[in-house]
Amino acid sequence: MERDWRHILLRHYRPEPMVRVPEHDVRRSSFPVIDAHNHLGRRPETSSGYERTSESRWAVEDVGRLVALMEECNVETIVNLDGYWGSTLEANLDRYDRSHPGRFVTFCRLDWQECSQPGWPDRLAKSLWDSASRGASGLKVWKNLGLWVRDENGKVILPDDDRIAPVWEVAKKADLPVLIHVADPPAFFEPLTEHNERLEELLVHPEWHFADPRFPRFAKLLDALERLVATNPKVTFIGAHVGGNAEHLAWVSRLLNAYPNFYVDVAARLADLGRQPRATRRLVLAYPRRVLFGTDASPPASDAYARHFRFFETDDECFSCTGTNSPGSVRWTISGIDLPAEVLSDVYGGNARRIIPVLRTT
Ligand SMILES: [Zn+2]
Repeated sequence: MERDWRHILLRHYRPEPMVRVPEHDVRRSSFPVIDAHNHLGRRPETSSGYERTSESRWAVEDVGRLVALMEECNVETIVNLDGYWGSTLEANLDRYDRSHPGRFVTFCRLDWQECSQPGWPDRLAKSLWDSASRGASGLKVWKNLGLWVRDENGKVILPDDDRIAPVWEVAKKADLPVLIHVADPPAFFEPLTEHNERLEELLVHPEWHFADPRFPRFAKLLDALERLVATNPKVTFIGAHVGGNAEHLAWVSRLLNAYPNFYVDVAARLADLGRQPRATRRLVLAYPRRVLFGTDASPPASDAYARHFRFFETDDECFSCTGTNSPGSVRWTISGIDLPAEVLSDVYGGNARRIIPVLRTT
């Protein structure tokens, strides 16, 4: 019996593009790569709410095999953002940085749960000093700051809260770059309607949805990020995920222009960059020393690297940014930006080498 396709469900509709265009499989980057945004630590039990330093399994089981993969793909160094603090930091440093010098650098984090008890700014500053002295190469700040982290009075703490100043003071003195993830894609802050471009993803991941009065609005979070960067000109900030605003590159460009201490990584944003390849190319060419390669692909995998290399190195059109055609990933395809060689080498590694102190000397 013929099926009546007029009643197909959206989630069942997975069209395959019929265009025939050149395809390049770039398994190895043309310059050494520093993956400035990845996660090699122990998996938290939950991806929402407060981060946990649980004793679950490592993101990568066999570090030797990972190093072999890096050799194969031409990935020189991976920045591991899962250092946390104390004994967890030590375990990450032992497993990665100290066992494979130059191959891995670990960033620490702060225990924002401290904020529920008075005196937290000094405790966090002290923790950062401690992590710096143990060998952390930078500080990772996750999106929980601005969304879930609350102070002793139960109020949400925004990234530009003046009470955090002692932490930024330590980052400056200890020469720790701060990789900060603020907010999430703007569609995650919009109501679930037929107009929401990430509707299918949000149905699969309801914990990513922030269109609720409990959370600050997207614009407020991005304003807080800008004020943080503006008021701490001596601290190097790397705005994770294209500064949290890959959908609005004019905004990103304005910040890069206004604040020389601001950098962005491209982690987990191929979908957004690749659907505006000309605007992305213009941005990178305008600020070739301010954009850092990063994947957020954990555990690191050859296919994810190949998709990134294809995006940066070719002018291929109409390819998948995820390698899957399943509900929960975006429906559009992307096109490559074919960067010139000298820009490519900066984005791939030169920029990270300049701003992450430990890589400057190795
Ligand atoms: Zn990440």
